[in-house]
Amino acid sequence: MKRELIKVGFWKDTKSFLDLSGMLQNLQDPRELVDHDWMKEKRERIAQYLDVAEHVNAWMGSSYCRFGCTGVDMGAADLSDGTYLWPEGLSHYVRVHHVRLPKRFTRHILDNLSILKKVSATASSEPQREALLADAAKKLGEWVDAKRKSKGQVNAR
Ligand SMILES: [Zn+2]
Repeated sequence: MKRELIKVGFWKDTKSFLDLSGMLQNLQDPRELVDHDWMKEKRERIAQYLDVAEHVNAWMGSSYCRFGCTGVDMGAADLSDGTYLWPEGLSHYVRVHHVRLPKRFTRHILDNLSILKKVSATASSEPQREALLADAAKKLGEWVDAKRKSKGQVNAR
């Protein structure tokens, strides 16, 4: 059975005069989602979560910041935690531009962060912490998979 990942953070092409893909798929412009009060205290942790997930797709070209940042590496890959799929650059929008994520996705991240928090607390150095987080994110994907299999069905969320 092919697993359907829920896509999040794929934005409208704001550089093209006519954004056909955005219009057809109803993609949003992140500049309309800026919310400086959203998750103030947890924002950095949410951004970290977005960074440590697994790479699932790699594309030929790099993405660009819809807010017009230059010299920022937005990445060219998609990441996943086993449930959601988002572009590598999504953490930049959260961290730098305070773009608000969808409610369900946010709740999902906060639930999973409690697992990552335990892991992070045991690390003694920054590289070790990153390695542990990456490992935890991988485990998280497996955990989500196992949970789904035991349910015997895919949640339509
Ligand atoms: Zn930017």
